[in-house]
Amino acid sequence: MARVGVLALQGDVCEHTSMLERVGAEVVAVRDVEQLDTLDGLVMPGGESTTIAYLLTTSGIRPILEKKIDDGLSVLGTCAGLILLAHEILDGRSDQWSFDVLPLSVRRNGYGRQISSFETVVEVKGVGEVPGVFIRAPKIETWSDDLEVLAFHDHGDGEHPVLVRRERIWGCSFHPELTNDDRIHRLFVDAL
Ligand code: GLN
Repeated sequence: MARVGVLALQGDVCEHTSMLERVGAEVVAVRDVEQLDTLDGLVMPGGESTTIAYLLTTSGIRPILEKKIDDGLSVLGTCAGLILLAHEILDGRSDQWSFDVLPLSVRRNGYGRQISSFETVVEVKGVGEVPGVFIRAPKIETWSDDLEVLAFHDHGDGEHPVLVRRERIWGCSFHPELTNDDRIHRLFVDAL
């Protein structure tokens, strides 16, 4: 059974936990550095990236997690989680940092503010159509060739990646944990 942590500092932790349990993972809520030990994978949830980044720093988790990711920990970041993994954050706070493990630039709230939240259907490579819930979602604006794009979405301004992967690091602009469809979590857990 895969042991998967959910970073439980802020954001939609419960929804990810249920989804991961549904696909057969043992789930650990990560609030402290000790809980980072013996994990096969980690989910960084949606929420507010500036708050999560702040709490990662004050909790002391940041440097330890940085090292774990470096040493091969698999990570799935959704929405705010994707922002935390990005190489570059556009429209971030001036002091906003990221783990810089996905070769892309992402614009915070790139699909609009809360009021512009929307639901659509996203075609995921090798999976099929999945529901895509976008809430103040980050938009991937530039990305490098070695990024595997598993899904694009065109919101009227051309195709932008919305589900990406580079080796064991995955990023998703939308919220698969807020739907009834567990196939993206399954994809992540099956790859651990
Ligand atoms: N826009 C938010 C941020 O900057 C992310 C929104 C979300 O996770 N639903 O963190």
